[in-house]
Order: sequence, then structure tokens, then C-alpha cells
Amino acid sequence: MTEAVVQDRARLVIIGAGIVGCSAAYHLTRMGWRDIAVVDQGPLFETGGSTSHAPGGVFQTNFSKMMTDFARYTVELYNGLELDGAPCFYGVGGLEVALTPERFEELKRKAGVAKSWGVEAGLISPGETRDKIPILDQTKIQGAYWVPSDGIAKAVRAGEAMARAAEGAVFYGDTAVEGFAMKNGRVQAVLTARGRIETERVLLCAGIWGPRIGRLAGVTIPLVPVQHLYATTSPLRELEGETREVVHPVLRHQDRSMYFRQHADCYGIGSYRHEPLLVDDIMDPREAVGSPAMRAFTPEHFAEGHKAAVELMPPLGRVELVTKINGIFSFTPDGMPLIGECPEVGGFWAAEAVWITHAGGVGQAVAEWMVEGTPGMDLREADINRFPAHARTPAYVRTRGRQQYREVYDIIHPRAQVEEPREVRLSPFYPRLCHLGGVFFESAGWEQAQWFEANAEEAPDPAWPVRSGDGARPAVWAAQYWSPIQGVEHRAVRERVGLYDLSAYTKIEVKGPGALGFLQRMMTNQLDRPVGRISYTCMLDEKGGVRRDLIVVRLGSEVFWVLTGVATGSRDLAWLRAWTPADVQITDITSGYCGLGLWGPRARQVLARICDDDVSNAAFPYFTAQPITIGLVQGWALRLSYAGELGWEIYAPVECGLSLWDALWEAGHPLGIVPLGNGAFDSLRLEKGYRLWGTDVHAEHNLYEAGLGWTADLGKGDFVGREALVEIERQGVDRKLCCLTLDDGDAVVLGKEPILAGAAVLGYVTSANYGYAVGQYIAYGYLPVDYSAPGTQVEVEYFGKGYKATVRKEPLYDPQRKRMTS
Ligand code: FAD
Repeated sequence: MTEAVVQDRARLVIIGAGIVGCSAAYHLTRMGWRDIAVVDQGPLFETGGSTSHAPGGVFQTNFSKMMTDFARYTVELYNGLELDGAPCFYGVGGLEVALTPERFEELKRKAGVAKSWGVEAGLISPGETRDKIPILDQTKIQGAYWVPSDGIAKAVRAGEAMARAAEGAVFYGDTAVEGFAMKNGRVQAVLTARGRIETERVLLCAGIWGPRIGRLAGVTIPLVPVQHLYATTSPLRELEGETREVVHPVLRHQDRSMYFRQHADCYGIGSYRHEPLLVDDIMDPREAVGSPAMRAFTPEHFAEGHKAAVELMPPLGRVELVTKINGIFSFTPDGMPLIGECPEVGGFWAAEAVWITHAGGVGQAVAEWMVEGTPGMDLREADINRFPAHARTPAYVRTRGRQQYREVYDIIHPRAQVEEPREVRLSPFYPRLCHLGGVFFESAGWEQAQWFEANAEEAPDPAWPVRSGDGARPAVWAAQYWSPIQGVEHRAVRERVGLYDLSAYTKIEVKGPGALGFLQRMMTNQLDRPVGRISYTCMLDEKGGVRRDLIVVRLGSEVFWVLTGVATGSRDLAWLRAWTPADVQITDITSGYCGLGLWGPRARQVLARICDDDVSNAAFPYFTAQPITIGLVQGWALRLSYAGELGWEIYAPVECGLSLWDALWEAGHPLGIVPLGNGAFDSLRLEKGYRLWGTDVHAEHNLYEAGLGWTADLGKGDFVGREALVEIERQGVDRKLCCLTLDDGDAVVLGKEPILAGAAVLGYVTSANYGYAVGQYIAYGYLPVDYSAPGTQVEVEYFGKGYKATVRKEPLYDPQRKRMTS
């Protein structure tokens, strides 16, 4: 398995034999790949990388389903591995204690999401917690979250066990990668200290060294290495005679940013309780960076954490700290791994910023992606192509990476906002939106108003439930990052007219003789339609998963616009570019055009006041696009509305933005126009049953279960995912995306909560919001077909309490689509 000299050719070179490189090699060879070279600068398998000195705590539950799925599979995998008879995982369970009532409520929320993702877990009392870890002072805690299948991974052992089982992969220790040979933007060879390996594919699993090696290839790996403190004690009297490596559950004390594990008769203490200590020089390939991934221990950064440790577990105060390290591992701008083919260089793949907890799942996913062209799960949160340009700059990666370290154990609201950097990407309307009291949320660097304080002049409907922000934790939680003004804006769009800034949405121009053929191949719907027609369609992956839903507009016989989301734009572009033939040009025109949504029953009256073009229903029908002149501005108008009302999306050159806004605002003023924020936009679309990609539908769903089967024209010829889709249609579906309303008029859920029938978990909430026009709280979620009939009663669990909900026929608002089409 281990060779002294490097081979001169390989199908794939994996860089790094830490837990991630070993896992990738294991899964790739299991899927049939052979002729893989795995090279590491260090000795095998104690390479000096992060894997070599991590204590191996595995906590599976994460508010991200993807991360939980990675972890759950990883536990299963490690449990099945052994090395020369020694286990690779100790399933001792995992505990997360709550010091404060807020944390205990958070643990209830976590127990809910565990149900949603299928992890067996529960809450236990302080006494029960102490029974599991007798050195813990139960009087200090409110209780704990308990996951019996969590535990401790022996990461180096697991890595070596996987490497041994990876038939067809040869591992080379003491073989540093020093550079790459490229040809036509693709990898041609890897240059190592022991010679050159010809190859068309590289998989970078170099952990904290990833950015440095990436730079040698001209690839950005947006992570920052951060020092992290870990110490082990001398033997504890309370554990005297204990020779088993670990019996106590692995423990998190998140209110103090600490974690603990037992090492036979000693204890290990890990601390995030200090200012983040970034290791900047590793980002620079000119600096010689050595191994191991470690710096000298800095006691001043450990002192506070140590005190907190002793408070929770007093016996720790009676022993010495014996081994002490500042280990180093990776943090990304959003805390998620980096997986996929890098956009800059063909054949250059990465699996970076991965914890031991997730390494099994990540190895499996990247192997499936490389072998089958599509991963077997939704990887939108981990896709290395997810970052817009600003989020790949060192300044951003450092700022956000540092913050991720700080927040690693914090209670984070799902709508919590990035504090810095802000105002990175601004639409031309920004000064007007600020003037109107826009309360801005950030998405992909753009500032987008969630609601406008100017609309507070209108009173909310007294029948709408109030999220007070007082009282019990669940109510306070629901009231955060929310305003009753959202209801006012919602009502104004349903009754009058609203103006919404669309500039942040990604606009892609697809042009050339092959444009139609290319889009027909990429999209599910029939796009061979007359110039001026708009189509709603989906892109699938090869397995039939929904890669994205989007709008395609035919502006000329060989010119199309593809309109997609804000945060998904970079991924969608990368996907389209990967398939583009030579006779098609793809251009991201997001920065060239601003956009405004003008929606509401009075939208036509507004346009008619300032525009000489005929905007009647006959001249400008629903789902068509036409050039338009508004005042001094020439642009394009698209008659469609995700809000479910009469209206247009109007696009114009960015420099004309303020003129466009002012013209529409002035014309709309006598008709009661309001600025519309994202909060109301979401409740408007939910009432109409419009799916939101990334929550209601993504790569793990197919069109039929998502209720989007009508967007696929199976008769139009081949398209990506068609074959899989035909098979899915033949087999039928066993779950369906359903619309629910909560029976209790004051109940609120926010998303990801479990949907239950008695004790059975049926699914989880994908989207939720109040429907201000229909007067009910709406939640969507996938339910088994047997539970999908309107009238079926289920329950949604929020902070540990069940709320009755009823399946409803959708959409709840304007099912005949009369408001949009007349
Ligand atoms: P590594 O193990 O660092 O492997 C990368 C490999 O790339 C190294 O072997 C290195 O030698 C090699 N390499 C680098 N440059 C080159 C080159 N030029 N040529 C060839 N090879 C090269 N995670 C958990 O899940 N649970 C925990 O409890 C936990 N605790 C931690 C505690 C500490 C103190 C630290 C530091 C980390 C902890 N982690 C934990 C995180 C975890 O250790 C890492 O995320 C994980 O080990 C990363 O694995 P990797 O394979 O990506 O990186």
C-alpha cells in the first residue's frame, strides 16, 4: 500500500492523507476507481496535520441537514472500521449542558431539529447528566441534550483503516506537493518533491494548507487556519484505576465555549473561549510553512476557559495540565466545508475545511460527485462555487472566518445578520431605500431591505397575531428579525401596489447560435418559444434532483436571459458554464442591470401614467417580455410576479436606476405605492404556494414530489436529468410537498421544525410565514402521500411543544390565478 517512489501517472492525485484524503480514497475505490495516488508531505498516517492531534469528539446534530447527514453517516462508517483489532469509534454518547435557561430552550429547539433530521436524541435532567459524568457539578446546569450515538473518533486509526481498505490507491508519505503543470486551463501534472505525476484530476484534501497549495494552482480556497487550544490533565483521583480509553460521554459546555473528553484516568479540555488566533502566513505560498499544524501553547488564552472548566467539573481544579497545544484547523466564511470542482482550473477538486465529525460523509459525497457527476445529496451549503467574488477575497475570508470561530458554540438565530463586512454590494436604489427606513438584511454581499420603517405609518390589522418579543423564549425567538410592518407591506401589495428592489437577483445572458439548443439541454421546460415569451423551468442534475428553478426569457432568436436567485447565482453560473458549448456565450449581467418589481392591482395604472407603451392585458400579456420606456429610461419589462399579483419586473441599466425609481415612485404616489421588503415578499409568495429553492425544493427532491412536474416537457427531447426523471415518474412518489396551516391562531414556526403524527416523524417544515391575506399561519413540508390529503391533521413541534396543523389544498391565495393574468 505504501511505496517509496512516486508513480509517474495516475487517474487521480489526492493531496493529503489526513482523515479527509483517506476517506475520499476509500470511497472512490469502493466506487470502482483505481490508479489513485495519495501524497502527503508528512509521514503516514501521523502526518502532522490537524487529524493527528484532534481529540475526535463527534456531535452529530447540526441545524444544517447536510452537516447532520454527513455526521450520521460518518458515525456509521467509523463504527464499522477497526485497525488491527482496535476500534475507530467509541459510541459513548454526547452531552451538551445548559448553564442558562436560554440555552436550555435552545436545546429543546435542537431536539426538535434532531427529530427532523432523524437523529435519536432527548433532553435529560441535571441528575441524569451527573449520572453519566460523575465529576460534573449538577447544580450548575439546567439539564442537557443527550445523543446516545455520538462519541469519540480515533481519527488517525480510522484514516489508516480506510487507507488499507482503499484497494487501488497508493499512499506516499514524505512526498510534498510543490507545484502543478497546467494545459488549457486544466490540470496536467502534479509536481512533488519525489517527481512528477501526470494526471487529469487532483483532489485537494490538504486541510489548513489548502489555500497555500491552491495558490500554486491559481485556485482560491476560501478558508483561514485558526489556532485552537486543547490540554489534557494529569490523572484524576475520581478516575483512579480507569484503563479504558473512554467511558464518559463527550461533553460540550457551550455557554462557556468549552468541550471535554475523558482519556482513561485523565481529562481533555478544549477551549474556544479566547479571541480568535488566525494563522495568516499559511495563506501565503512564499512563506515556508512547516508541519505539524500546531503552535506553542499560549496559557493566557486558556486561563478563562480553564476557570469555566473547573466551575463545571471541580475535580479538574485539583490536577495539572500536562499536554497543552495550540492546534490549528480551518474556518470558512460561513462555517461550512468546501467541496467540488474549483471554478478556476478544470480537473482541480477540493474537499477542505472538514471536521473529523463529517469526514466520512464528505468523502462519500465528493467520491459520488467525481464518479457519477452528481453527489447523492444536496450540497448547496458546501459547494466551493457558492461564493461571490468579494467572499473569496482574503479580507472577507479572514473577517468572516474569525467570526465563525467566535460563534462556533453561540446560539444563532436562523435570520441572524452578518455584522461585518456590510454594504459590500449596493443597488442604485440604495439611497432611496435608506431614506425610506429600509432595515437591511445581507445576502451574497447585497443589502436587501427586509421591511421599511416608512410603512410604520399604516396600522397593522388588529386580527393579525402579534409577535411581542416579551414573555417566554419561543415568543421572543419568533419576534427577532421580524416586524409587524411586514404585514402592512403585504396588505399594500394585495390591495394597492408595491415597489421591490430586484437588483441583487442574478441575471445571466445566454447568447449565440447554440443558445437555444444549450438551454433546451439544461432546462426541463420547452424553451423553443417565440421571442418575447417567458418560461418558468427547472434545471436538474443527472440523478433528477432539482438543481434550481428559474425564469428564462427569450429576448431574441439567439439571446436569452436566465434569471435566478441572489445567493445561488455563483453556483448556477458555474453549473451552466461547466456545460457550455463553444457556440454559446454566457455572461453574468447582474452588475449591468438593476431591477424593480412593480406588483399589485394598481401596477398597470402606475405604468400607464408614465409610459407610452401599451401595457394593457391584450398588448402585454402575462408571461411575456417587451422593451419599455419609462420617463427617460429604456429597459425591459417582464410581466410576471412571484408575489402573485398583477405586475412587472422592470430591468434597466444600472446608471439609470435612480431615474427609474423616481419615475415609478412619483407615478405610484397618488395610487398608494409602498416600498416592499423581503419579509413581506416571502409571505406573499408562500400564500401563492410558490416554491423557494434551497428550502422547499433542492437536489434531494424531484419535480413530482415538489409539485413541479408540470415544468418538465418530457416530449421536447433530451435534457440533463430526463432519463432519471422518466424513471421517477414511472415509479411514482411516496411523499409530497404539502401546504399546512396552524390551527392555533397565535402559533408561529420558523422552519426546520418536525412534523409529527403522534410520535412518528413525518417530515419537517421547509418554509413558514404568516399569510396576511388568508389570515392563517402557513407552513410547507414534505409528507408521506398517505398524509397529504387536504384535511389531514398533523402536529408541528416548536421548542418542544406540539401545535396542531391541517393539510390544505394549495395555493391558499387566488387559486384561479385571476389576479396575475388579467
Ligand atoms: P489534515 O489532517 O490536516 O490533513 C491534511 C494533510 O495535507 C496533512 O496530512 C498534510 O501533511 C498534508 N499536506 C499539506 N500540505 C501538503 C503538501 N504540500 N504536499 C503534500 N501533503 C500536504 N474535529 C472534530 O470533528 N472533532 C473534534 O473534537 C475536533 N477537535 C479538534 C481539536 C483540535 C486541537 C484541532 C486542531 C482540530 C480539531 N478538529 C476536530 C478538527 C479536525 O481535526 C480537522 O478539521 C480535520 O482533522 C481536518 O482533516 P483534513 O484531512 O482536512 O486535514
